Amino acid sequence: MNKICEKKKCTGCFACFNICPKNAIKMIEDDFGRIYPIIDEDKCINCGLCKKTCPQLNDVKYNEPITAYALYNKDKKIRNDSTSGGAATTFYLKVLESGGIIYGANNIENERFKFIRITNQSDLYKVKGSKYVHCYIDNMFLKVQEDLKNNNQVLFIGTPCQIAGLKLFLKKEYENLLTVDLICHGVPTQKFLNDELKLHVKDTNLISSVKFRDGSSKVFIIEKNDNNCIYKESWDTNYYLYRFLNSMIFRENCYECKYAKKQRVSDITIGDFWGLKSQNKYFKDDKKGISLVMPNTEKGKYFVEKCLRDVIYEERPLDEAINGNSQLQLPAKKHKNYNKFFKYYKKFGYEKACKKTRTFKQHLKQVKIISNIYHRIKGRKYE
Ligand SMILES: Cc1cc2nc3c(=O)[nH]c(=O)nc-3n(C[C@H](O)[C@H](O)[C@H](O)COP(=O)(O)OP(=O)(O)OC[C@H]3O[C@@H](n4cnc5c(N)ncnc54)[C@H](O)[C@@H]3O)c2cc1C
Ligand code: SF4
Ligand code: SF4
Ligand code: SF4
Repeated sequence: MNKICEKKKCTGCFACFNICPKNAIKMIEDDFGRIYPIIDEDKCINCGLCKKTCPQLNDVKYNEPITAYALYNKDKKIRNDSTSGGAATTFYLKVLESGGIIYGANNIENERFKFIRITNQSDLYKVKGSKYVHCYIDNMFLKVQEDLKNNNQVLFIGTPCQIAGLKLFLKKEYENLLTVDLICHGVPTQKFLNDELKLHVKDTNLISSVKFRDGSSKVFIIEKNDNNCIYKESWDTNYYLYRFLNSMIFRENCYECKYAKKQRVSDITIGDFWGLKSQNKYFKDDKKGISLVMPNTEKGKYFVEKCLRDVIYEERPLDEAINGNSQLQLPAKKHKNYNKFFKYYKKFGYEKACKKTRTFKQHLKQVKIISNIYHRIKGRKYE
């Protein structure tokens, strides 16, 4: 066997990597940092398990959302530390408080974004917040399976393609597993993000966290030594965040994402409640972000209802949620400069590819920086 699914369709979900009984699969980066499975023919026994587990070759069950909630956590700190209204942390806390185990995407560690397993509330901060980048599952599906077999309550939050990978890997439903998917419009590679970080910080190993949002404001923030901000820039002038939000630098497969629709693969779906039309005074000031929560199964609905006492909430019509969020309708459209960016990246690297595809505002900013340096040298400051 030499390949599992077509390269341009692969989501990098790691399901094949976790299922292989012979450890014959390695996830290898291409020139743009996109990871794909490579099979070691000497180890492979042609059992076909990887193909049977691949979500791009097999379908999982889709569920119709039951209802929609607009909500945010009552605890100001939880809301501040979260991307939307803190739905994820509300769920994580509920499971940890009852002795369960949670899985989520960790912030940067040694230039890598990976999934981690958490059993203790003191580690919860690590998975708070959206990381707008492809986070690696590594061998976490095997750990989830072990936890489930040991009768632990498990909560797994990830992108829909990761949830689909987990479900096919597990092969059967577990009553003690709760899955939550994010509404997701695509992921750039970790290589692009690390290239961006290197433009601002000499030793990227010192970075303790990267943030992409401050409530509903889209800002790129780099922190060192726990919450010590060393770089902050608005989305429209930051190269990476602008290209993420404008769908210029995703993995190829994201532009044909089969999960970008109303029907969902998990028990609960969470995202931003962009189209909220509530007149409720508690939702007027949405600068801190408001979560959209859609239970998609009875198990998910029961769990969400158990969490409602921890949040300010309002049940809203499903159509309002779906019409306001394009990723619940169709995949992201490739930016017109997608091909140009990838062509220049391969030839000249990240910074040049960004310069070749920058906006007028980003160009102006560059001119201003150069001009400032020039005038500082000359003893005058450019305004
Ligand atoms: C790549 C990406 C694209 C997104 N696109 C949209 C969109 O188009 N529309 C929309 O409404 N919402 C989108 N979201 C979701 C949104 O940004 C919030 O994550 C979501 O609303 C949950 O917010 P929260 O306040 O409940 O939790 P937060 O505290 O923000 O927690 C986020 C949770 O998601 C997990 N997570 C974070 N980053 C990743 C990642 N890269 N891969 C897998 N899991 C991750 C964490 O483990 C954590 O559990 C996207 C999220 C990501 C990661
Ligand atoms: S066919 Fe079996 S042994 Fe070969 S790579 Fe796939 S899962 Fe591994
Ligand atoms: S299982 Fe996931 S990582 Fe493996 S080939 Fe399929 S999509 Fe790619
Ligand atoms: S857009 Fe689709 S394929 Fe891409 S990361 Fe999100 S869920 Fe996965």
